Amino acid sequence: MAEWLPSCEGSDLLFLAETGKSCAMRLDPRSPLVINTHELGRRPGSMRTQKLTVPAPTELGIEVIGVPAGSSVEVELRLEAVMEGVLASGSAGAMVVGECARCLERIEDDLEVSLQELYVYPESDAEEDEASRLDGELLDLEPVLRDAVVLALPFRPVCRPDCPGLCAQCGARLAEEPHHTHEESIDPRWATLSSLTLNDAEPADPSASRDEE
Ligand SMILES: [Zn+2]
Ligand SMILES: [Zn+2]
Repeated sequence: MAEWLPSCEGSDLLFLAETGKSCAMRLDPRSPLVINTHELGRRPGSMRTQKLTVPAPTELGIEVIGVPAGSSVEVELRLEAVMEGVLASGSAGAMVVGECARCLERIEDDLEVSLQELYVYPESDAEEDEASRLDGELLDLEPVLRDAVVLALPFRPVCRPDCPGLCAQCGARLAEEPHHTHEESIDPRWATLSSLTLNDAEPADPSASRDEE
């Protein structure tokens, strides 16, 4: 286990005293997606890679499809010290589970997303929307993972591209019954009328006979 340096000590404290900024983040170093960058030692160019398997945080995904909480997420991470902080890049792979938007069948799929985020040093004056910020020497991978996963997921997942969905009348799964029909699809009061029209139409069509001449 790498040692953990609390975020508000040493040079950070001096910085905080000078700028009056507060030390609000306070990441939990025990959280599996909180990564310690201590080894990089603020030497631009120093780099390290690591592979980790972490339990998926809750609500990693969207309403209709997502990574089940607690299931394994495989992360390959490359941490690189740069002038203004630590550049984290890599990929994450996980299983996603959802429901077909057309036939409601369960969907299981593998999802692979790439990750990239610059974490600036705590004293950086980068705007909050420009980069994430290191908390002492800790970085939080969870928001970056969450954004990448949500962006990669379909808003209307389907079990297969040509899923025919459900019968609008009885809810039968049309993929399982390709010839599914309903005899009584027309109001019985109109059934006789429609059969009359159909039977009379062909021989009596005036345009058809004109074409033959
Ligand atoms: Zn489907
Ligand atoms: Zn039906």
